[in-house]
Amino acid sequence: MKLGSIELTTVSGGVCRLDAGTLYGVVPRVLWERKTPPDEKNRIPQQTNCVLATIDGRTVLVDTGYGSKLPEKQQRNLASEAGDPLLRNLKAAGFEPEDIDVVVFSHLHFDHAGGATRFTEAGEIIPAFPNAEYVAQRREWVMATSGLAELRGAYPHPQENLLPLQASGQLRLIDGNVEILPGLRSIVTGGHTEGHQALLFQSEGQTAVFLGDICGTRMHLSVMWCMAYDTNLMQTRRIKADLLGEVADNDWLALLDHDPDYAAVRVSRDDRSDFIASELIESL
Ligand SMILES: [Zn+2]
Repeated sequence: MKLGSIELTTVSGGVCRLDAGTLYGVVPRVLWERKTPPDEKNRIPQQTNCVLATIDGRTVLVDTGYGSKLPEKQQRNLASEAGDPLLRNLKAAGFEPEDIDVVVFSHLHFDHAGGATRFTEAGEIIPAFPNAEYVAQRREWVMATSGLAELRGAYPHPQENLLPLQASGQLRLIDGNVEILPGLRSIVTGGHTEGHQALLFQSEGQTAVFLGDICGTRMHLSVMWCMAYDTNLMQTRRIKADLLGEVADNDWLALLDHDPDYAAVRVSRDDRSDFIASELIESL
C-alpha cells in the first residue's frame, strides 16, 4: 500500500505456534480459549510479520522473524517453517537479500532477530543482508548480549546470533526516540523488554505504527491482555494505553507482528475492552 510517498507492505518471517500461556500471561484460559482455541499441545498459531518499506529509494525491513538457525528441538516445539521463510517470502515479493538497505529491530528476541543472520555452507554465522545497516536500541543490544542467565530463553546464543552484526561493522546503535531516516522514527516503549521500540512511519500526513510485542495481535488490544514474556508488565500496560489511544484518536494504521490472520488494524476506543479493531486488514 501507499502511505503518502512510502511504499509499505508486510512480509512474513514465518508462521509458528506459541504456547498459549506465554502469549496471554495472566489472562484466564476461559477468556482467551473462546477467541483462539489452542491445539492439543496448548499452542496457538502465530505470524512473525516483518514490515518492508521503500522510503525515499531506500529499502527498509523491520524485524526478521525467527530465521533458519533454530535448533531442531525448538523447530519441533514451535512447529516453525523449514528453510528460511523470510528470505523465501522476500524473494516472492521481488527482493533479494542484497536489496535491503536498512534493518530495524523492534527488539532482539529470537523471533524478531533470528533471521538477521544465517549459516554459510561452512557453518559460519554471517549477516543475512550483506548491504544493510542494522539498527537497534543500545539498551536492547546491551541486554540481549549481556549473557544474563535469566534472559537465556529470550535471547538464545547471543554471541553466535547477534555479535556477527557488530563484527561485520553493520550495526548502528541508537538511544531513545530518534529519526532513523526521514519518515521513520523510533518510539521507545520498554515494557516487553527494556529496550523495546515501536516504529512510526509518516508521510504526507499519513501515519502507520508497528507496535512490536506491545500489541502483537488483535486479541492484545485490550490493555490487560499482555504476554508472559514482558519484563515489565506495568510499563507494557501503561504504554499500550497511551500508544493505542494515539492510534485510535488520530486514525493511524496499526501494524501487527504476531496476528495469525491480519497484518494491520484500525482501532477504536471501547468502554468494555479498552480498544477494539474497527477495521481488519488482511494484507497491505
Ligand atoms: Zn518479543
